[in-house]
Amino acid sequence: MSNPAKSTTEILGLSKSELEDLIRSRKLPAFYGRQIYTWLYGRQCHEFSEMTDLPLALRDQLQEDCRITPLVELEFAKSTDTTEKYLFGLSDGAEIETVLIPDRKTTTACVSSQVGCALACRFCATGTLNLTRDLTAGEIVAQLLFLREKKGERAFSNIVFMGMGEPLNNYDALVKALEIITDPAGMALSKRRITVSTSGVTPKIRRLAESGLGVNLAISLHAATQSKREKIMPVAQTFALDKLISAARFYADTVGKRITFEYVLLKGFNDTREDAMALSALTRKLDCKVNLLPYNPVPGLDFDRPEKDEVNRFAATLANKGVVVTVRTSRGRDVAAACGQLAAKRQKGNS
Ligand code: SF4
Repeated sequence: MSNPAKSTTEILGLSKSELEDLIRSRKLPAFYGRQIYTWLYGRQCHEFSEMTDLPLALRDQLQEDCRITPLVELEFAKSTDTTEKYLFGLSDGAEIETVLIPDRKTTTACVSSQVGCALACRFCATGTLNLTRDLTAGEIVAQLLFLREKKGERAFSNIVFMGMGEPLNNYDALVKALEIITDPAGMALSKRRITVSTSGVTPKIRRLAESGLGVNLAISLHAATQSKREKIMPVAQTFALDKLISAARFYADTVGKRITFEYVLLKGFNDTREDAMALSALTRKLDCKVNLLPYNPVPGLDFDRPEKDEVNRFAATLANKGVVVTVRTSRGRDVAAACGQLAAKRQKGNS
């Protein structure tokens, strides 16, 4: 075990070059830094004593003045549809959620990027929590390391940044985590299997496009007109729909990847034929697909789920207009698996 009482430097989340610097500062060869990097992210090791290819004296030093803080599992729930939901405790007592969603051929880890969220989308449980703080790169990566340690190398095949928080509002930590996740010497996951989901922070979409990371982008659209979007997503007041669509086009053109638009179907609000027509007009000329998500009602929030027939009619209207559309079935409903529901439930229980 590292020495939490005395230690100073948290090393989970450090990049390869930061670890090399840490070692160089001790007048030792930088390659030890690369070895630590692989232990941390390639082998999910959080004990310096187990880093057996490091000199014993270095392991003892690291034990004295560094620490590796894994997440603490506070709650675990498994849905009848096999979706798994984890509530983790962080070193300052904050809580975040991670969801594991097995499908026929893939298992997707849905990770959080912030504690709570500042964007307050009207239909979202996390939106009721407000923003406590950003996660560090280490805390983002730790969610995935936990899953691999618990369930093995194949714990997940895909990652979506669709848990608590707006990932592009924690841009630097997100990018640092993505570099570790995709590095062959780190977590070695293909960028093709990673999706960053944003509510539409337009300037950061452009920045991510130019970052060279090449991950997939999903945009939470949820309404096809500026006025409707503003009603359910306050972020739309800052980042207008026309600018968002042009940033989406820029991303698709720059990265060469099809954009996904997420559209949560809220009964009586955005599920009419008129809404479908507006959505098709907005998306038809883009290299994109539309994911329809029939709403998973959140206790205390004012929205309902449309009937199956209404969902199918909406999807058919889009398809007839030439939009690539899928309907995503809601997973883990019996364990409150939608983003933020477990944490919101706990926070309200404690207040
Ligand atoms: S939907 Fe996403 S961006 Fe909106 S409040 Fe919830 S976590 Fe934040």
